[in-house]
Amino acid sequence: MASENPNRDGSKATVETLDPRTEVLTRGFDPSLSVGSARPAVFRSSTYVFSSPEAAEHAFDLMAGRAVVAPGEQADLVYSRFNHPNAQILEEQMTPLETGAKAALVFNSGMAAIMTALLTFLKPGDALAYTTPIYGGTEHLIEDFLAPWGVRGVAVPAGETEALRERTEGVSRLGAILIETPANPTLVMTDIRAAVGLARRIEPRTVVMVDNTLMGPAFQHPLKLGADLALYSATKYLSGFSDMIGGAALAADASLIAKMRPKRSLFGNILQPDECWMLDHRLSTVGLRMTRASKNAGRIAAALEHHSKIARVFYPALLPEGEQRRIYEAQCDYPGGMVSLELRGGKRAAFEFLRRLRLARNAVSLGGVETLACHPKSTTHSGFSEAQFAQAGVTDGLVRLSIGIEDWRDLLKDFEQALEAV
Ligand SMILES: *Cc1c(COP(=O)(O)O)cnc(C)c1O
Repeated sequence: MASENPNRDGSKATVETLDPRTEVLTRGFDPSLSVGSARPAVFRSSTYVFSSPEAAEHAFDLMAGRAVVAPGEQADLVYSRFNHPNAQILEEQMTPLETGAKAALVFNSGMAAIMTALLTFLKPGDALAYTTPIYGGTEHLIEDFLAPWGVRGVAVPAGETEALRERTEGVSRLGAILIETPANPTLVMTDIRAAVGLARRIEPRTVVMVDNTLMGPAFQHPLKLGADLALYSATKYLSGFSDMIGGAALAADASLIAKMRPKRSLFGNILQPDECWMLDHRLSTVGLRMTRASKNAGRIAAALEHHSKIARVFYPALLPEGEQRRIYEAQCDYPGGMVSLELRGGKRAAFEFLRRLRLARNAVSLGGVETLACHPKSTTHSGFSEAQFAQAGVTDGLVRLSIGIEDWRDLLKDFEQALEAV
């Protein structure tokens, strides 16, 4: 296979396709545009100087669609709410990490990416099917914001392929299907390929979006399975150090990203230059970090599976034979760094466990190099009704762990000593 990469002088040359781990460090960055710096500089300017009034006029014609970019032409930068060099570099370098992606857009949060995707592809009167449980912010957006604007949400329990078919059958104007898999916090797997199969039979096109935050880009590849958009909270594994908020959208069909771009310019939710620079530096290690976290989590989950104070360990590698295991094996390369534990003794046991942890910290969020633990029922999922708790498997004794890259034996000892005291 061959692809086109811009040369230093801007001309195009056909080069061999490189491995994503190579491309993430080499493509989309021209040191000569950063005074020879080996790594990208930060361009904090809000506005860009034109070489002539004609160039300014042309730049605005391009933006408004009154002109198209000529082959080999690089559109001039105009204003940083629309585009800026650090976003451009980041998007170029992020694209090869998502298998099958041709284009990316970065946002100032995961919610901004999700919101912009939904507001780009849905109109009042459309329906949106989505898996539940889904990230709390996403649920709030669909049920409390989009519903009054005339977008009908159709909730479908995560992992229930048959229910997805039944509940979307005959739904008029199904504009999009939004899947979050694995679902948080019990890691229920939804079959992406089956959802794509359903969507393909619908005219006009139903956009299949996958929130790939928990397993991507290292272990789950929705675009390869036929999904249209992979959405991310880059706050989690992509950035990986619990020190920034960001989001991303990637697609195999660059025209979908081209549709979202003017909305991002309008909403003003592009990721800022400093954050782009930070995130760009983290991309080359996302595979290393996720692999280490997954290995650690696998060892810890296996060691705790039969612990006397634990009723159940939720971890993909421990799934029994059956439909969930089939989906996991079909769409995930590795089980990932998230583990949930259901402690015997309910909320009191869970709180006591969290209180006693010495290394793992009691915080929400996930995907950082440091291990975090939280009690979903009283925090991330506290807005749920009793029926939602039951459907999502969020019990009083459930503790969610985001395993980091520390030594797994140290972490296991920490969990064991905390369990001892429960
Ligand atoms: C955190 C998270 C989000 C929201 O991302 P922000 O960066 O906090 O806006 C969306 N989906 C999932 C699965 C998440 O974990």
